[in-house]
Amino acid sequence: SIAIGNNRAWEELERQALSDPLTGLPNRRAFDGRLASEALRCSRRGEPLGVAVVDLDEFKVVNDEHGHGAGDEVLLEVARRLAAAARGDELVARIGGEEFGVVMPACRSADAWGPGERLRRAIGGEAFPGGLVLTASVGVCVGAGSAIDGAGLLEAADRALYRAKRQGRDRVV
Ligand code: GH3
Ligand code: MG
Ligand code: MG
Repeated sequence: SIAIGNNRAWEELERQALSDPLTGLPNRRAFDGRLASEALRCSRRGEPLGVAVVDLDEFKVVNDEHGHGAGDEVLLEVARRLAAAARGDELVARIGGEEFGVVMPACRSADAWGPGERLRRAIGGEAFPGGLVLTASVGVCVGAGSAIDGAGLLEAADRALYRAKRQGRDRVV
């Protein structure tokens, strides 16, 4: 058992439970929590809510050709780029090995393409340190109405991502 001596120790535990150790980004648990709370908030305010899933293309090749350590370095740089590309009110999280999720409050469906392209270009638009060229596929979905289903949005964004992969990668669907 863990004795929680003070508030600071508690806060440190909470931070560790909610962040990804490699990149320092919020983890899947933090992402799910924020998605649920934004779904409630946007539903209440009558605002749309967008979700994007960003998955690196052929990332396995990076590990195979350059080693797992180099792959980790690339993931760190990807995290930096996505965090820098995100708007202030967007949450970027590492939700899987080489998969990142973005919660986009007040994102109208007519505008969803913009954030998706912004994220895609943050990865594919410029070579990585060492000259490595990497692209990413992005699935985006926007929900609206008085009962936005956050988990359903994520599933739909995942299906869109799958289609982006099928259609040739390095694109937003
Ligand atoms: P696709 O374009 O279809 O997404 O191909 P992919 O190679 O990116 O996809 P796949 O799911 O086959 O491979 C994902 C790879 O990501 C395999 C796994 O070793 C690597 N990976 C996952 N987590 C980490 C990590 O923390 N560090 C490193 N270095 N690699 C990781
Ligand atoms: Mg991948
Ligand atoms: Mg993947």
